[in-house]
Amino acid sequence: MSDEGRLISGKNQNDDRDNVALRPRLLSDIVGQDRVRENLRIIIDAAKMRSEPIDHTLFYGPPGLGKTSLAHVIANEMGSNIRITAGPSIERAGDLAAILTHMKPNDILFIDEIHRLGRAVEEVLYPAMEDFALDIVIGKGPAAKNVRLKLPRFTVIGATTQLALLAGPLRDRFGARFRMDFYDLQAMEFIIDRAAGMLKIEITPEGTTEIARRARGTPRVSLRLLRRVRDYAQTRANGVITGPVAGEALELMDIDYLGLDEIDRRILRTIIEKYGGGPVGLPTIAASTSEDPSTIEDVYEPFLMQLGFIKRTPRGREATGLAYEHLA
Ligand code: ADP
Repeated sequence: MSDEGRLISGKNQNDDRDNVALRPRLLSDIVGQDRVRENLRIIIDAAKMRSEPIDHTLFYGPPGLGKTSLAHVIANEMGSNIRITAGPSIERAGDLAAILTHMKPNDILFIDEIHRLGRAVEEVLYPAMEDFALDIVIGKGPAAKNVRLKLPRFTVIGATTQLALLAGPLRDRFGARFRMDFYDLQAMEFIIDRAAGMLKIEITPEGTTEIARRARGTPRVSLRLLRRVRDYAQTRANGVITGPVAGEALELMDIDYLGLDEIDRRILRTIIEKYGGGPVGLPTIAASTSEDPSTIEDVYEPFLMQLGFIKRTPRGREATGLAYEHLA
């Protein structure tokens, strides 16, 4: 994964440490995602009235839109403990069994990248989610015995960038499922202003708008751009992020007025110049741009599709007229 891909998808540890402090704490701190927020409000209030944990909940959508943040918000609102893990880190069924036996009533288990759980691990998760039971086998061979342990009622919150890769039965076990959308300009401005306030960064309304417009409707990207524009403002201007200062800094970072960077443009040029506009398969695009196919699929493609620059067809990706216009 390239540096940019890593930054957008959030695998950068320094930025992530800061982001934790900037994370919204309560549902009222969340801007945008109105439908998700309203539904969560109802689910949380109802669960509290019944003194029950909330239903298993799944968030899906591109990286950096707030799936992890919402899991923490739910835990804060419910006053629950949250345990955090990710699909690739639960390697064996026994790893998950160990996590489950430590769950307490009302606890939340957050599983990021849940589409990357192995089959055997999923088999343990199904009864845990459905019946709050853990089936374990004691002994080996003909003497082996199945034992069912009772688990307390707890909540699984899953997050995935690839809903289609989630096994049907697993998807079905989530009582609530929410698609996360890209944020509109107003919400992005609000998020940037809030972060600037918390990080004590001086920024004018024009500076905020300039960053918001180029942040791909993605809070994580906006926070990253804000930090890098701050560096520029400190070293090349008087420390204040104005519209022109933000514009110059982003120009220097090769981020165009729509928020596209060098890799986005390379993807578009590959489809248009090398493959006559497509259709062309994802592995081919990945090879021509030296990017990881899953980074393209998770990070770049969703935004290019949102802009209407590429289309997914059964035979591969196609560039649209808008993409031709943009690249002129
Ligand atoms: P995901 O899990 O979808 O990849 P995260 O929840 O890690 O995304 O969000 C990335 C960062 O963006 C968070 O650390 C948080 O600071 C910020 N963020 C995300 N959503 C919001 C929001 N609605 N309001 C304010 N900040 C947000």
